Amino acid sequence: MSNLTINLYSDTQTQPTSEMRATMAKAIVGDEQAGLDASVNKLCSMVAELLGKENALFLPSGTMCNLIATLVWCRSGDEIIADGSSHIRNSEAGGAAAIAGVTTSPLSGVNGIYTAEQVLAAVRTPSRYSPRTRMISIEQTANRGGGKIWSMDSIREVAEIASANALSLHMDGARLLNAVVASGISAHEYAEPFDSVWIDLSKGLGCPIGAVLTGSNNFIQDAWQWKHRLGGAMRQAGVVASAGIYALEYNVDRLADDHRNARLFSRQISDIPGIVVENEPVETNMVYIDVSGTGMSALQVSDRMDSLGVRLDHDNIARMRVVTHLDVGRKDVVEAAKLLRKVVCSG
Ligand SMILES: *Cc1c(COP(=O)(O)O)cnc(C)c1O
Repeated sequence: MSNLTINLYSDTQTQPTSEMRATMAKAIVGDEQAGLDASVNKLCSMVAELLGKENALFLPSGTMCNLIATLVWCRSGDEIIADGSSHIRNSEAGGAAAIAGVTTSPLSGVNGIYTAEQVLAAVRTPSRYSPRTRMISIEQTANRGGGKIWSMDSIREVAEIASANALSLHMDGARLLNAVVASGISAHEYAEPFDSVWIDLSKGLGCPIGAVLTGSNNFIQDAWQWKHRLGGAMRQAGVVASAGIYALEYNVDRLADDHRNARLFSRQISDIPGIVVENEPVETNMVYIDVSGTGMSALQVSDRMDSLGVRLDHDNIARMRVVTHLDVGRKDVVEAAKLLRKVVCSG
């Protein structure tokens, strides 16, 4: 391990900037669980308005947003429909099963994006033998799908099935704002067909902690009770919520830089022998690379890159992930691409 210089492992690894920290230091705070933290209240109104929902809830993490939405919409024994690659199914320690008693019906989408036909085939006919289908989850952008963006048409087709079958439609919007900036479609429009939607503050927005879950007043009332039950109710949480307010003001439009840098990285590595970019065209801030043609495993490539000061994620034996964010600039991705070429070409 060298001293790390370029961190392309994840947009979760951003350091809060000094401006963000200064905002946090000055935050007006109060007892959050009593509704008395002005900064949390302000953040919640901002996000509710941004997403066009009645109400919002500040939570410590996106994982808790997914879990609480599942707990509100489902009862034990129910089933949710989600892509096989989704975070809710693969990366939340089985919380839906362990805590909500809910199973997942995994769909085989392309780049994390499934079709209305696939959903329709997965909706169960009510029977005493089957779990009850209760909720559909869409990930915007699709993380393990390479940061791909769900189109409004695809969302609406799934929403029609949800509504025809009285299913709740949930958006895991960890990177919804990446989709907004890349497509020019407003967050409000993307969120409209959904019963619950959340955004993460600790990914591309660069905050240390937090996510905001939105929905109707009734939904948020139930969600508040689960937040309390799970130990997610806080006290002077405005210290962190104020980072979210700062990020919504200053760190949204700049996500376009991350997208440009991801595309640049993808172009720079496209002719490296044995390297295949899986998610061309790169739509947001992620590049997934298949390295199996290099004769090295993803772990070997990752270790070699690490020793040169570049940190990348490896998903499995063949697949690596590169994520751009506010702590890496254009020069960094050009340098990382150069070093990847060196690692691969020198075997
Ligand atoms: C990171 C992530 C989550 C979980 O968010 P945390 O704030 O890390 O708990 C959920 N869904 C997706 C798609 C994510 O990328």
